[in-house]
Amino acid sequence: MLQMKLCGDLILREKCSPVVDITPELLNTMDEMIEMMKSQSGVGLAAPQVGIVQRFLVMMNPDTNEIYRMINPQILSRSDETCVMEEGCLSVLGADNLPVYANVRRPKSVVVQWMDEHGNTKSAQMDGTIARIVQHETDHLDGVLFIDYLSGVKREMLMRKVNRGHK
Ligand SMILES: [Zn+2]
Repeated sequence: MLQMKLCGDLILREKCSPVVDITPELLNTMDEMIEMMKSQSGVGLAAPQVGIVQRFLVMMNPDTNEIYRMINPQILSRSDETCVMEEGCLSVLGADNLPVYANVRRPKSVVVQWMDEHGNTKSAQMDGTIARIVQHETDHLDGVLFIDYLSGVKREMLMRKVNRGHK
């Protein structure tokens, strides 16, 4: 049974290692992560959020409901054009145990390469919401959280609302 790691847990700050083998265990873990993500109305979940320091993640395009299982994802390029979107994270919860949200500016579109669950290399240009999600989730693999992009004051205001779990 996987357990969600919450803001304050240092595992969320680690740089994850590449996946070397696609094992049945890895595939099961990704299936479990998809269930967890859906049950909490999330659109993405990265391995360190469930305590695994490896480079894989799951996510869902909320516009199409398409599910992605990404192993060793890499953002190959980012657009110069940026946009502001509201972000939340299943590891950054408020006192009510629901995600806290903040506006974050990031590149509007990205080109991503990853390995799928069958070991095939895939790549795609992503734009809009799904580009936002993949940037947020791949950040997790490098120990970066969306709150890191907020200015000092905004970050402090948000962190006052955050329930820092130490599990
Ligand atoms: Zn997150």
